[in-house]
Amino acid sequence: MGIKVAKFGGTSLADANQIRKVQSIILADKERRYIVPSAPGKRYSSDRKITDLLYLCHAHVQQNVPFNDIFNIIADRYLEIVRDLDLSLALVPYLDEIKQKIIEEASADFTASRGEFLIGIILAEMLGYDIVDPCEIIFFDDSGKLDEKRTEEETEKHLSLYEKAIIPGFYGRIHDCKIKTFPRSGSDITGAIVARGVHADVYENWTDVSGLLMADPNIVDNPKPIDTITYRELREIAYMGAHVLHDEAIFPVREAGIPVKIKNTNMPGDPGTLIVKDADPITHTGTITGIAGRKDFTIIVIEKALMNTEIGYGRRLLSVLEVNGISFEHMPSGIDTISLVISDSWLCYKLEKVLQEIKSDCKPDSIEVYPNMALIATVGRGMAYTPGIAAKLFTALGNNNVNVRMIDQGSSEINIIVGVETDDFETAVRAIYNAFVK
Ligand code: ASP
Repeated sequence: MGIKVAKFGGTSLADANQIRKVQSIILADKERRYIVPSAPGKRYSSDRKITDLLYLCHAHVQQNVPFNDIFNIIADRYLEIVRDLDLSLALVPYLDEIKQKIIEEASADFTASRGEFLIGIILAEMLGYDIVDPCEIIFFDDSGKLDEKRTEEETEKHLSLYEKAIIPGFYGRIHDCKIKTFPRSGSDITGAIVARGVHADVYENWTDVSGLLMADPNIVDNPKPIDTITYRELREIAYMGAHVLHDEAIFPVREAGIPVKIKNTNMPGDPGTLIVKDADPITHTGTITGIAGRKDFTIIVIEKALMNTEIGYGRRLLSVLEVNGISFEHMPSGIDTISLVISDSWLCYKLEKVLQEIKSDCKPDSIEVYPNMALIATVGRGMAYTPGIAAKLFTALGNNNVNVRMIDQGSSEINIIVGVETDDFETAVRAIYNAFVK
C-alpha cells in the first residue's frame, strides 16, 4: 500500500461541518495514513483564526491584562466542534491546563502551538488514529534553525512505529524541552517534513482553492488552474508574487523528489495542481504554465560608449549597490548599457546617493531612471526551445499598447520577464494570458 501524507489548512478545519469533509476525504483513501492539521481558521471573512486569538492571549498576559474573554472564545470554538461532531472527548481538562500555562506566562510559541495540538486530539479521537507529538520528531537547533538531520532521522524512526497517525502542524522542540513554532502558515512545513520522513508517495496539501491558478484572479477573469508545475517553475512564480506554498515548505519534499498535490477540501473532486520534480519530461511545448508579477521597481539605465571594452566596469557599478546595502533583481545589459532593476523596498531614500556615486565611480555618458515599474514573469517549461514564444508575447503587449521597458530571459528559457510601467501592469498580464491561454 502506498503512503499519502495529507495536510489540512485552517479553513478545512474551521468548524464541525468542515471537519466532516476532512473525515470523508481521509476515509476515502486508505493510503492517507499520516495527517497534519493546522489550527481552525476563519469560518467567514470577519472571523478570527484560533492562532491569532492564542497570540492575543499571550500578548494580554505580557501586558498584565485579563485574557479570560479571548480564551473563552477559543475554548467555546473547540467545545462546539467536539459537541457537533458527537465525540465523547473530555476536552475541558486540556483547556484548563493550557489556560493555566498561559497564566504562568508560557511562551508565545507554546501558546500558539496549542491551536494545532487541540485539533490534533479531536481528529485522533474522531478517526481512531494515534496522535504523535511533533516534539518527538521535529527539532530546532540552539540558533532556532530547523535541525534537518536530526528531524529527518527522528521522523523516519518514530513514525515507522505508527500505521496511521495525526501529527499536529506548526511546531517542534528546541533546547530539548521547549516548544518552538515555524513561521506563520508553518503547518505546510510540518507536512513536508512528515512526507519526507515516511517516504510518502505524495504530499497532499488540502486547502480552500482548487490548486494554483495561471494568473491572479483579481486581474484575469476566471484564470485556468495549473494542472502540473515543476518545483522550479513554482519558485519563479512564487518569487514574482503568486501566493503559493512557502519555499521552505517545499524544500523537504523537493529534496526527496516527492510530488505535492494541492487540493480543495470543499471540492475534493477537482483535479487540483500537482507539483513535480524538475526532471519529469516535458509533455507539451509552446505553452506557458503561469504568469505572475510584482509592482514597485525602479530601473536605472547606465550608458557608456565602449563599456564592453572597459575591464571592471560592471564590478565598479555593482560595488556602488553593495556599499549602499542594496540588492538588485535583474541586470539586463547591451554593448554599451547596463540596466539595474531594483525593488523600491531596497532603494527607498538611497536613490540620489546611489546616482551620485555611480556618476563619480563609473563616469557614465548618461544615467536614466525609470520609477514606477512593474515586472511580469511568464513562466513555463513548455516555452523552452520553442520558437515563436517571445514573438507571441511581445506582439500581444504591442497590440495592447504596452511599452516594454526591459526584457530578461533566464538562460533556462523557462521564464521571460518584462518590465512595464505600473499603470500598464494589469493590461499587460491580461494581454499575455489571452495570447497564450484563451
Ligand atoms: N496555525 C498557524 C497559522 O495560522 C500555522 C498554520 O496554519 O499553518 O499561521
